[in-house]
Order: sequence, then structure tokens, then C-alpha cells
Amino acid sequence: MSRDPRYDILFEPVKIGPVTARNRFYQVPHCNGMGTVHPSSMAAMRGVKAEGGWAVICTEECDFHHTGDITPAIEARLWSDQDIPIMARMVEAVKEHGALAGCELVYGGHSSHNRLSREIPMTTNAMPVSGWEPGQARAMDKTDIANFRRWHRQGALRARQAGYDIVYVYAGHNLTLLQDFISRRTNQRTDEYGGSIENRVRLLREVIEDTKEAVGDTMAVAVRFAVEELEGPEGITADGDGRAVVELLADLPDLWDVNLSEWHNDSQTARFAEEGFQEPFVSWVKEVTGKPVVAVGRYTSVDRMASLVSRGIVDFIGAARPSIADPFLPRKIEEGRIEDIRECIGCNICVSGDYMMMPMRCTQNPTKGEEWRRGWHPERIAQKGSDARVLVVGGGPAGLEAARALGQRGYAVTLAEAGTELGGHLNALAGLPGLASWARVRDWRIGQLHKLPNVELFLDSRLDAGQVREFGFDHVAIATGSVWRRDGLGRTHRRPVPGWDCGTVRTPDEIIADAAVEGPVVIYDDDHYFMASVLAERLVGQGRDVVYVTPAPEVAVWTHNTMEQGRIQARLIDLGVELILGRKLATISDEELELECVYSGNRTWVDCGTPVPVTMRDPVDDLFRALKDDPAALEAAGIASLTAIGDCLAPGLVAAAVYGGHKYARQLDTEVPLDEAPFLRENVGLSDAWPRRMA
Ligand code: ADP
Ligand code: SF4
Repeated sequence: MSRDPRYDILFEPVKIGPVTARNRFYQVPHCNGMGTVHPSSMAAMRGVKAEGGWAVICTEECDFHHTGDITPAIEARLWSDQDIPIMARMVEAVKEHGALAGCELVYGGHSSHNRLSREIPMTTNAMPVSGWEPGQARAMDKTDIANFRRWHRQGALRARQAGYDIVYVYAGHNLTLLQDFISRRTNQRTDEYGGSIENRVRLLREVIEDTKEAVGDTMAVAVRFAVEELEGPEGITADGDGRAVVELLADLPDLWDVNLSEWHNDSQTARFAEEGFQEPFVSWVKEVTGKPVVAVGRYTSVDRMASLVSRGIVDFIGAARPSIADPFLPRKIEEGRIEDIRECIGCNICVSGDYMMMPMRCTQNPTKGEEWRRGWHPERIAQKGSDARVLVVGGGPAGLEAARALGQRGYAVTLAEAGTELGGHLNALAGLPGLASWARVRDWRIGQLHKLPNVELFLDSRLDAGQVREFGFDHVAIATGSVWRRDGLGRTHRRPVPGWDCGTVRTPDEIIADAAVEGPVVIYDDDHYFMASVLAERLVGQGRDVVYVTPAPEVAVWTHNTMEQGRIQARLIDLGVELILGRKLATISDEELELECVYSGNRTWVDCGTPVPVTMRDPVDDLFRALKDDPAALEAAGIASLTAIGDCLAPGLVAAAVYGGHKYARQLDTEVPLDEAPFLRENVGLSDAWPRRMA
């Protein structure tokens, strides 16, 4: 197949200063939890995207001087020449596949805590460092400014030495010194770097000029700039200072990479923002500059991408998450395989990897983060190791992915699903407020399964142990999922909550299935991810009074890692949900709940018609146990292996279920089971400055 001519426009080459991108697909800088701690992982992850057709592949933030040290964030680094070989690894991986490599230099201003270097952070004027951390940044004087400019220049030269084609000057995300200077919220200087917008933009202009002078015609100089901070008139706004900055600098950089600040505004989840949510904020940029413009917006619709270019909104389709979910997105468009694109669902599990300082994971793409460690390619997979026949029981994310990947390997696969449709618990999730796009996890897999003649799908087929044994399969994977508990047992309660069996309790599964409830409904969140809050939203939408109780100090506290927490709490407040924080369930009765303060132990009572504990799920593993507990019958049936996967093994994230299914498929018939193979790690080696004499 060849590409649809309507998308030709996306494959035009575009000049960026002295370099030329082969098409309009641009992977903007994005964090990944790998950085220079896991540099081979990072390089392989980037290289796969170049192979998948992206024209430009950028690093994550790359700090270039120890006075702007962003430790312990796992990012790129160019403090000295020692860092160059590590940073060059990604360049090699990217260039091997004909893409340009971009390096996003960063200097953090008030968000550099300098935890490793112990230098005093510095920025436009004295202010507390970001977060709730004690400590302040000091105001920069003219010498500091001159030093900063020199260090930035050195950083650019090191990036050039590492082989990068594009170097960034970065003024965005409320974590850069240059944004501290530009924003009137942060800049209170009275010298030529403060006051008017011309003054506040002075340092950015100087650094762009320095960088251009340093790298000459050997590299393009990109500016990443937050045109809108969503802080009202006090901050940078797209129709105020944001526009003024682009007007003032117009054609000075070789490329404008424009977006929203902070990161939680830039990378909003599908629960809170539609595809293309940034377009209204950036649509004017190309009117102001003659240089190429790149912008993001979680774009996965190819029509929309083509329209963005033809309407003159951007020159490049910027992407972080869509390139993570499908590193081969451009190639698939080019080859006319639109339906094969694994669309990002906008869940930000990838972001959580960076927040928790581990290599990122992706709900849609189970190979993400495993390109180097396990050698997993997102498109290719080893052919089958035998003519074995495989039965997969359960058609949720784990079962679907196992069947799909086994089918791709060439195995004869049968998938049996008890329900009348495939998807498992994704079907329920996708019906909850804001989670419709999660159905893409199901739909992509069903689409791929339908293309595999060696996979048979059976619906309405609830299997018992006898049937599984009868069919004569060689291998059986049980992916029968999980159910929510009713008795409140979970993180806080290691025993059932007294009174849980009084008859009024409803589980999340029952609420999703529209069980009758009496008001007020009290949701008890000891799960701390999205479920309790989406149930609250849904019940309010159905006209119920909802109270939200949690032992945590905030609602949905784990969603800090997906950058949703603030928005979730705001939404519940807006919806009139009563929030009771820092309290756990003491007893449940017909009409009220007794709550206990997790700090003081004080007791309080809340009226309750229907308690809904969102605490933990139990695996639905009765089929697995029944088979496992009778090894003689298994052997007699000729079943060589029986494996529980996904939530049936241990309930968790959808990403974990997909990964579990994928891993099962990858390791069938491998000589050494994956978990027994050595765990590949990146050893940064020992310093040659050992031993050191102390004085
Ligand atoms: P996971 O997230 O691990 O994929 P899900 O709960 O999403 O798990 O999906 C499990 C699927 O297994 C559900 O669609 C359920 O209907 C199906 N299932 C459960 N028990 C059986 C069974 N005995 N036979 C066939 N399908 C089953
Ligand atoms: Fe998209 Fe979720 Fe994958 Fe991130 S983890 S790329 S948001 S599907």
C-alpha cells in the first residue's frame, strides 16, 4: 500500500536553519526516566522512533552546568566533556535511521534545587525554590548573567561535539531560568533585564545570539517557548507577553517550538483535554515569524495533522506521547496503514515513569522502555518457536495483547471470552467520565487480531477447567481479570471493615453496572488512582449527593504522577463533592459511617446511604486454580504450560495487563524464561578518582 495523497503534505522536507528535516514529524523533547542514568535504554528508545520515520528526535532536558543541577530528576546532562560520549549514543541511534537529533539544553532558575552540587540556585531575583522545599534562589548579578551565557555557549558546543543537529534555547514549563526572566510573575528586576517586555526578553535574545554565534552554520538553534502560562494576566499569555516575545524575536531562532506551561498544562490527559487542545494558544505564531513552527496537542488523527499544516498553523507536527505509543506512526501513514497506528490514549502512565524516576512505560506500547533491556522492537517479534497451539482465556487487555502478539509470532491461537464483546474491564472504563479514549487499547488490538488468520476469537464462551482440558491445547494462558472487593480491605485496612456486610455496600463494579444506590453515596478511596474520582463524577452526573473520604491528604493522590491530581481535586470541588481527607473507615452501618482521623485517631460520623469502598481488587483466578491444583489432569490433557497473566495474576494498571500479555507471548518457547535471564543493567562504572585523600 502507499500513502493517501491527502497526506503528501506531511512528508515534505522542511529546512530548519542549516539542516533539513526529511518530513514534518517532529518528536519534541520529552522526559522518559532513562536519561543519562540509563543511556543505552534512552538511545535505543529514540533510535526506534527514527526508524519509525520521525524526522527530528530530541532529547529530554539536558542540564549543562552544575549550578543549574536538576538532580534527582533523571534527564540528560552535559556538564563536561565526560558527558559527551553518553549523549552521543542517542545521536548515533537516531542518525542511523536518517533523522536529525536535537538537544534541549536546560538551566532551571528557581526550579534548580542543586541537590547534588549544593550550589545556591540563582535566578532573576530572590525567590523560594519550587515545590514545598525549603531554600531560596538568589538574584543574579551581571557577573552571574555573563557566566550563565558562557556556560550555555559551552553546553551548545558540547552538544555539537556529541553530534546533535539542533540545539535548544529553552524558556518554558516554569522550570527554566529564561522563563523566570520573561514572566512578569517572576521577574521583579529594576535593571535592563526587568520591567518592559523588551527588557525581560533581553536575556533570551542574548542567549539565542550567543548560541548562533557559537555553533555557526553547523547546527540549527531552536527556541522552546511557553506562549501561555494559564496564570491569567499576571503571567505570560498568548495574546499578551507570549505574542510580544515571538514578535520581538521573530526570525532570530531557526525554529519556534511553542507550547503551554507548566508541564501539567502542556501534557494534559484525555480526561481533561481533547486532541488539539493547544491549537487556540499557538495558532497565531506563524503569522509573526517566517521560521518553522512546531507545536503539540496529542495529535493522532492524520486528517487533523494534514489540516494543521495546510491551514498554516504549524510546519511540524510535534509529538511526545503519540511517538511513545507508536514510534512507527509516520511510517504507517507513509505506507497507507493508518488503521495500524497505535493511538495514544492520553493516560500519562509514560509521565509517571519520569515522576517516579524509572524508565517510562506506556499503556498502549508494551515495548516502550524495553527496547534496549529486553531487545523488544515495537513492530517486529520473533517467529514462533514451535507448532504449539495456544488457548488464551479472557479478552481483556492482557488476553487481547497475548493473543495478538502470539498471533504475530505465527502461533495457532484461540481466544475465548465469556462476555459478548471483547475488551474486558476496558469496556467499563471507557464508559466512565473522561476515559472514552481508553477504548483504543481494546480497539487497536481487535483490529490487529482480525488481520491474523491464525487467531480464532470466540465470544460468549465462559470456559471451565474441564473444557479447557478437553480442547487439547499445548499452552494455556488465563487472563480472567479481577473484581473489586466489597469489604474495605486494602492498603489502610488489613482486615475487613466492621459492618461491611450490612447490605448497603456497593462495589465499584456494581456502581459501573448502575446498581441502585441510596443517597448520600460515600466513596472511600484507598486506591488513590482514578477510579474513586471518576465514580464520584459519574454519580454526581446522575444527580446523587457524593461524599469522598480518603485516608490520604489529597484526593487521588497517586495521580500526581500522571499530573492530574490538581485537576481532579478541582473538578470534585466544582461538582460539589464533599471531600473528607485524612480519615479512614472505622465502622460501616445502614445509615452512617464512623471515620477515624489517621493522625489523631479522633472519631467522626458521616451520613451514608450507600458506601462504595474503592480499595483493592481480587484476581478472578478460580479457573486458573482449578487447573493448577490438578497437575495430573493437566498432564493427561497434554497441556505443557499453564500461566496466569494480567489482573488474574495481580490486578494493576492497564499498562501492566498489556505488558503481562505481551511478555507471555514473547517468552513462549524461549530457551531461557525471560525472568531467569540476567537482568540487563547499565553500569556507569567506577570513578577513576578513587581513592581520594581527605584533608
Ligand atoms: P485483564 O486486565 O487482566 O486483561 P480484564 O478484567 O480486563 O482482565 O478481562 C478479563 C476478561 O476475562 C473479561 O472480559 C471476562 O469476561 C473474561 N473471563 C473471565 N472468566 C472467564 C472464563 N472462565 N472464560 C472466558 N472468559 C472469562
Ligand atoms: Fe499515551 Fe498513555 Fe502511552 Fe503515555 S502511556 S504515550 S499517555 S498511551
